[in-house]
Amino acid sequence: MLVTFDFDDTLTQSMATWDEEGCLEDSRFLGPNLFFIQVLRTCVQNGDEVRVVTSRSKKWEKDTLEKLSEFGILHLLAGVHHTDGEWKAAWMLGEGLMPGKHFDDDRLELDEIEKVFPDCETIKVPLHQSWNGVE
Ligand SMILES: [Mg+2]
Repeated sequence: MLVTFDFDDTLTQSMATWDEEGCLEDSRFLGPNLFFIQVLRTCVQNGDEVRVVTSRSKKWEKDTLEKLSEFGILHLLAGVHHTDGEWKAAWMLGEGLMPGKHFDDDRLELDEIEKVFPDCETIKVPLHQSWNGVE
């Protein structure tokens, strides 16, 4: 089975900071999301084909690949794809990729995937607790 993972806030974690009015001030990169990195490793061990599909721009490719390498999982992946802002569902359909399972923190991306690939199981990855329940 093809299993796909989003990158930002799925395989990584970010921390949100808030101003006095309760408005989002900033978010910064915290590091790997160790729980979902372990989930990814388990998928590979179970024989799944695992790919990272991010809506990041291609110009971030070096950063994405370096981080995946630092996290120790780059060599496990069948591909790392940058859709450059395109919906992941539309992009995968165009590439002939049919995910059986997709992990993402973005509800809208998951909704699109459910529409385009009704048989795909979708997993909503929760944001870091500093986001105070923001989706
Ligand atoms: Mg994300």
